[in-house]
Amino acid sequence: MIGGEKITTEDKIVSYNPADKKEVIGRVSKASREHAEQAMQAAVKAFDSWKKVKPEIRADVLFKAAAIIRRRKHEFSALLVKEAGKPWNEADADTAEAIDFLEYYGRQMLRIKDGMPVESRPGEYNRYDYIPLGVGIVISPWNFALAIMAGTTVAALVTGNAVLLKPASTTPIVAAKFIEVLEEAGLPAGVLNFVPGSGAEVGDFLVDHPKTRFISFTGSRDVGLRIFERASKLNDGQIWLKRVISEMGGKDTIVVDKEADLELAAQSIVKSAFGFSGQKCSACSRAVIVEDVYDQVLNRAVELTKELTVGNPVDNHFMGPVIDQASFDKIMSYVEIGKEEGRIAAGGTGDSETGYFVQPTIVADVDPQARLMQEEIFGPVVAFAKAKDFDHAIEIANNTEYGLTGAVITNNRMNMEKAREDFHVGNLYFNRGCTGAIVGYQPFGGFNMSGTDSKAGGPDYLQLHMQAKTTSETF
Ligand code: GLU
Repeated sequence: MIGGEKITTEDKIVSYNPADKKEVIGRVSKASREHAEQAMQAAVKAFDSWKKVKPEIRADVLFKAAAIIRRRKHEFSALLVKEAGKPWNEADADTAEAIDFLEYYGRQMLRIKDGMPVESRPGEYNRYDYIPLGVGIVISPWNFALAIMAGTTVAALVTGNAVLLKPASTTPIVAAKFIEVLEEAGLPAGVLNFVPGSGAEVGDFLVDHPKTRFISFTGSRDVGLRIFERASKLNDGQIWLKRVISEMGGKDTIVVDKEADLELAAQSIVKSAFGFSGQKCSACSRAVIVEDVYDQVLNRAVELTKELTVGNPVDNHFMGPVIDQASFDKIMSYVEIGKEEGRIAAGGTGDSETGYFVQPTIVADVDPQARLMQEEIFGPVVAFAKAKDFDHAIEIANNTEYGLTGAVITNNRMNMEKAREDFHVGNLYFNRGCTGAIVGYQPFGGFNMSGTDSKAGGPDYLQLHMQAKTTSETF
């Protein structure tokens, strides 16, 4: 979709059901570099008029889109079940979160439309306003194929920017459906251009483009770093420093204290590790447990894990497939590493015959420095490590290059306060799991290699897509 026109190409991206590889979910036309250039020209042109449209009208497009998705909620959720392999509850949450993003960013825009207060004095009238940046490139992930794709796109739009959206190649259909919704909600042609394509061909080209003003990316650490580096280079005709908003990986830890509700601990670990097959950057991939209660928590977590069912999500199993063959292979290679670095206490097998199914896997007795405790797997594999005491547990929790989410299960107030201060993650949860941040309640984003700590669903997220302008009038 370029400048409001649907373009059809010979070359297609075909979307398959990860639970049943033979089932085609849909096909989208694949953008080439030339299409990306045309889309950029269309966006540059549309930006001139869109930036002048009143914030209230821009916000209204989001509110209407939210209403349309609410009306078609189960259709979108069903598509997520089929295209992303989400179990029903996870699909429903993904759709609900997309609606939340639309509502929240629309309302936030209304709050900041008149800028922030600054002082004026006799004979001097001062203002501090936020104005749009320009054309943004949104590169969205497959794991929240609706929510994060929609959220990152509309945050850029409602703030008055024009956008080129490059969706994840495994989930382009739900993104295409979302484009239809925005069109129906009244978004003018050219303001949002849809350019499904390969990262190497279209992604790099757009990140490098001199007219690109900002990039909003959600995905892996490696791709995030590549974008960050490329965006820092000045290209011919470029007159600004590109801004990068980046949400990358995690290696998220649940810490269990000895004074704690151990049933809650085991439940929280299992749900956070295996919900949506561990394919969340917030997923628990490390359980660090104080030695006094280690065996108890591990045994209960193993019991709970063995009760989980894995299968085609149309039948509403607890866990569906992982997203594709490459992901399946990567996860299974970490299971092999787990056999060397620890002891498989549950799961440890996979089957990619019909779809990409991996059994929920617990690897026990892993050293805090082991690869399984350091590298992001993005699958249903959790490593258990023993800590001498609570301080040691926090030390282990902080020993990765990431800093996205974490949770602490404890009934000890002093330890809770210690973690609040010293557990270095963007989203820290007490006495619950470490996934499932809610828009407007737990603004989401992490430290260090987890990204730019751009807090999606938070009160200062929209400003990342804008620049502040001071005007001072003497009279
Ligand atoms: N916001 C989601 C959560 O809190 C995770 C988002 C992601 O995986 O990118 O679970």
